[in-house]
Amino acid sequence: MSYPRQGLQIGVTGARGFLPRAIPCRTALWTVLLLLLLLTIARPGARGQSHRAGTPTSDKEVLPATLVEELTALRDAALADDYAYRQAAHLCENIGPRPSGSAQAQRAVEYVADELRKLGLQVSLEQTKVAHWVRGAESAQLVEFPGQLSGTTQKIVVTALGGSTATPAEGITGEVVVANTLDELNALGRDQIAGKIVLFNFPFDHRKAANGFALDAYSEAVVYRSAGAKAVAAMGGLASLVRSVGGADYRLPHTGWSAPAGIPAGAVTAEDADLISHLAAQGKVRMYLTLTPSSLPDVTSYNVVADLKGSEHPEQVVVVSGHLDSWDLGTGAIDDAAGVAVAMETAQLLTRLRLHPKRTMRVIAWVDEENGGRGRDAYTADHAAEFFNHVAAIESDLGAGHPLGFSVKMSLGAQEALQPVQEVLASFGANLIKPVSMAPGSDISSMSKAGVPTLGIMQDVRTYFDYHHTAADTLDKIAPQELRENAAAMAVMGYALASMPEPLPR
Ligand SMILES: [Zn+2]
Repeated sequence: MSYPRQGLQIGVTGARGFLPRAIPCRTALWTVLLLLLLLTIARPGARGQSHRAGTPTSDKEVLPATLVEELTALRDAALADDYAYRQAAHLCENIGPRPSGSAQAQRAVEYVADELRKLGLQVSLEQTKVAHWVRGAESAQLVEFPGQLSGTTQKIVVTALGGSTATPAEGITGEVVVANTLDELNALGRDQIAGKIVLFNFPFDHRKAANGFALDAYSEAVVYRSAGAKAVAAMGGLASLVRSVGGADYRLPHTGWSAPAGIPAGAVTAEDADLISHLAAQGKVRMYLTLTPSSLPDVTSYNVVADLKGSEHPEQVVVVSGHLDSWDLGTGAIDDAAGVAVAMETAQLLTRLRLHPKRTMRVIAWVDEENGGRGRDAYTADHAAEFFNHVAAIESDLGAGHPLGFSVKMSLGAQEALQPVQEVLASFGANLIKPVSMAPGSDISSMSKAGVPTLGIMQDVRTYFDYHHTAADTLDKIAPQELRENAAAMAVMGYALASMPEPLPR
């Protein structure tokens, strides 16, 4: 497929339009030469102003022409390739869900390491211990509620939260108290909470998500999933339930990490949260709840760290990455086989196109992003002393939707140095550079704290949280063409960072 480069075409056509039709031959020649000179001088500045009005451009914002040609070739190859999709498919379908500590997570480590070795990368498996939490039985029903027909119950769709504590095998029964917010929980006080099952009914804001602010909607709701159980336990509660965090409206519960609280913790679907809160507003509601996950001993696991050594500055490193582990309900397609696959594709394209980065391109498939971040912590412990030589780190962990550009945590000077890369990404709309206040990826957060410029692919996430952490996070949610665009964004940005004449300023 070919992508029109509108900006340049318009520029050339416009210049031609200014040529007078009948002028003496020698004058015409001088006019043409003068125009060509003006175009050559004006082009970088004009491009710069289209992105950042009023910002003076400098020499740093121009890449060597050969590098721009390589980036363009890389982009076009990525947009026509299905390597990343095949890798994502293998991870999701042939291996399956990859929760930390599972046999499938270990298989995924071996598989990705083998694939990267096949490409000729120098692969190491960097060890860490991870938690091994395994889902058990999970069921819930309302056994008492206003208007109940004698002898009937209401089924509630529930799932246990990662790392949570079990109920006894025979389950527990308790009165349900609904709190919409933490403030409401605190206002209820210990007397009303002790011995009861608390439901946090904080809704995920669909309007924010529909308007492109899905991550904001997620952030304001997810605090109840991660911290709710601890708050309930502190007030003597029997168990903690949270309204599923996300936009799913097919009665799908959403799992995810919950801070260890010593009491059972689960998520009910948005529909069931509505049902319970409607009934609880009318009178007493009691629930029979069974959640029997187990926390097994820690397991040894590995980050896959694979280097394509730099030709000029092998000690300088650019990280491209995604995380290998997933939750267990779906097959971990958009979270985050897609991220691992586009990082792998970066290496595949460089080797296939025989592009040799000046700096070392390091592909990392992280473990344990979902259930504690111990892959990140191990990498930090092992490599913190080299972070001064980590030029930049990219992670893709917001799905496989169309990439709009990159969220970045870096200095203004670093953002400006990316301007010529934005021009290569503009043909398929992946050219935004959006500064963010927190590291755009949890696995690269400690690098970010150490001053390493960090980037996260900024996908269209309007539907991401409809599937994220649910049983519906499956391969069909990845649109092959959108995954190719993600691969192009990762490969172009990664290679540019690894081959720019000067390392990205801090
Ligand atoms: Zn993720």
